[in-house]
Amino acid sequence: MVKIEEDIKLDFSDVLIKPKRTTLTSRSEVSLTRKFTSLHSKRVWEGVPIMIANMDSVATFSMVDSARKHKIITAVHKHYSVEEWQSWYNSPYLSRVDFNYVAVSSGISDADFSKTKAIFAACPDLFMLVIDVANGYMETFINAVKNFRKEFPDKIIFAGNVCTSEMTEALILAGADVVKIGIGSGAVCTTRKQTGVGMPQLSAVLECADAAHGLGGLIVSDGGIQVPGDFAKAFGGGADFVMAGGMFSGTDECNGDIIEENGKKYKIFYGMSSMEAMAKYSGGIQSHSYRSSEGKCVKVPYKGSVNNIIMDFNGGLRSACSYVGAAKLKELSKRTTFIRVSRQLNNIFH
Ligand code: 5GP
Repeated sequence: MVKIEEDIKLDFSDVLIKPKRTTLTSRSEVSLTRKFTSLHSKRVWEGVPIMIANMDSVATFSMVDSARKHKIITAVHKHYSVEEWQSWYNSPYLSRVDFNYVAVSSGISDADFSKTKAIFAACPDLFMLVIDVANGYMETFINAVKNFRKEFPDKIIFAGNVCTSEMTEALILAGADVVKIGIGSGAVCTTRKQTGVGMPQLSAVLECADAAHGLGGLIVSDGGIQVPGDFAKAFGGGADFVMAGGMFSGTDECNGDIIEENGKKYKIFYGMSSMEAMAKYSGGIQSHSYRSSEGKCVKVPYKGSVNNIIMDFNGGLRSACSYVGAAKLKELSKRTTFIRVSRQLNNIFH
């Protein structure tokens, strides 16, 4: 018999955070840095736990160079060659501490595995790895995570994507330090439309954070950040890290030229399983007759340097912490009470 889960699942736009009394006098007192010791690798990581999504239009070396100054991680996309990694790694301006803010990305094919080994051999001080596939529920994915863990016992491994507690637990037990949460949540993702599959992102975070923390693991909420306040809601819901792509799109640091149309400037942003990405990297959708596109390509307004965006949401996040009396980002989830609201949050000027 078909089952229906009756309890309502929530997205970021379905809630607000309830303000609480506070002894803080200014948002400048709030610290956004966090320190984690990862479960399997035992590595200590310290920084602002925000990640730039491993999408090739966004997560470039140029993005690393801007984001590292804000202690934010760039999950560099998987299409750079080993030689490109090596030449970036040997840049004279980088210091070891910068490697805190760089993750290597990989898929799960044999070619991905070999390339990841070569990148870490060429760049031995890098210590973070994001392994992701669109559907983290496949048995082959669990096996791949086990293999990566065996090969890289001392790297912090992020693995996903999934959106439920049992797979979060399975991935942690398979060797993931951090489970990447989000199915159908991305701005240029069409999975929910194309397949009918997915889970509202805030509920996914609430459920999976609880499961991961119970085993000593961590989660990264991936996708669905539309406004700076969504970062606060994701952290408030229990996410240890928050990953976003669209938020960082359209900036100087992204790949691609600025397009001018009717006096306005734009840049192109596309999903990693869009026709555009497939044409670029996998010989086009025609070469996979069993597969359809689950991503789209959009023109986003040109936003200038990513520094402006980062400062804007850092300000929002600090302010959210001060509204609930959290002196540190770490305290935000303990002090968060969500209020369910109707989706009509915008005022008449939006
Ligand atoms: P955003 O912050 O833009 O809302 O979401 C970023 C996330 O969207 C990425 O980290 C990734 O998980 C997801 N994503 C990126 N490209 C695609 C795509 O083409 N299809 C799907 N289904 N998800 C994508």
